Amino acid sequence: MKALKYRLYPTKVQVVKLEWTLSRCCELYNAALQERKDIWNACKKHLNFYDPDWCTEHAKDYRVTYYDQANALPTLKRDVRPEYTAIGSQVLQDVLRRVDKAFAAFYRRVRCGQTQATLGINLEHSTILFAILVKQAAQEVGTCHRKIRNQRADFLHKEARDLVKCYETIVFEDLKPKNLSRRPKPKQDENGTFLPNGAAAKAGLNKSIADAAWGLFVRLVRAKAESAGHTTVVLVNPKNTSQICSGCKRKGPHKDLDERTHTCQHCGLVLDRDHNAALNILRLGLSHQEPS
Ligand SMILES: [Zn+2]
Repeated sequence: MKALKYRLYPTKVQVVKLEWTLSRCCELYNAALQERKDIWNACKKHLNFYDPDWCTEHAKDYRVTYYDQANALPTLKRDVRPEYTAIGSQVLQDVLRRVDKAFAAFYRRVRCGQTQATLGINLEHSTILFAILVKQAAQEVGTCHRKIRNQRADFLHKEARDLVKCYETIVFEDLKPKNLSRRPKPKQDENGTFLPNGAAAKAGLNKSIADAAWGLFVRLVRAKAESAGHTTVVLVNPKNTSQICSGCKRKGPHKDLDERTHTCQHCGLVLDRDHNAALNILRLGLSHQEPS
């Protein structure tokens, strides 16, 4: 493709008009990008955000596309920014396409595992329109949150149904989310230097538990088990289930939450931390059931 360049000799009036148009385009660019950022940030708060399979399947539900934004232009012109009618539609659409490209590049970087990818607002200008559009974006984010809540409830119902359908006995650890929400006390060595204590992992876990509404899930399973009639639900105290070896039943040392593997010093069993704990919880649950 050949590019033709023309030197423009604009009049003063034309310069003013061009600058005016450019600044409106910058506003639109910033606002459109902000809308995408807001929705992206809302999506990032989703429980399953770090599950690649979930993201492949659902992340697009939480994205605003070029077409969504382009289709909003007429309303925008009518209700918020009548002066946009003075700018050609194709110019405005081109601005939105640039936003689309910038966001697509950002999203690609995220999917390639560059979790630190940043999304910058490139064009600098902001006015009242920005605030108005951010407000609109906030409303859309609200819709997005509602969507997430509904999907989460659907997900819990489905999982609960599947569990009850497949198993005669289901054992849960009787977690108290309240206790988990406390951050672990900071550890200090003899010099008073703070040591890593798994606080970040714990805060993340706590958030997941709160988000997943653990209690709700257990209630759902119990209700469905009761109505199905063939499934028993047992709750057990999870104390020490992470330390005890599911192979030899001996107790090992305390594990910080960021220690993800169980390695037994006695029998040499190596197992995923959660898998080991789950086996212990199952054994406890089944022993509770035996007639004593
Ligand atoms: Zn062992």
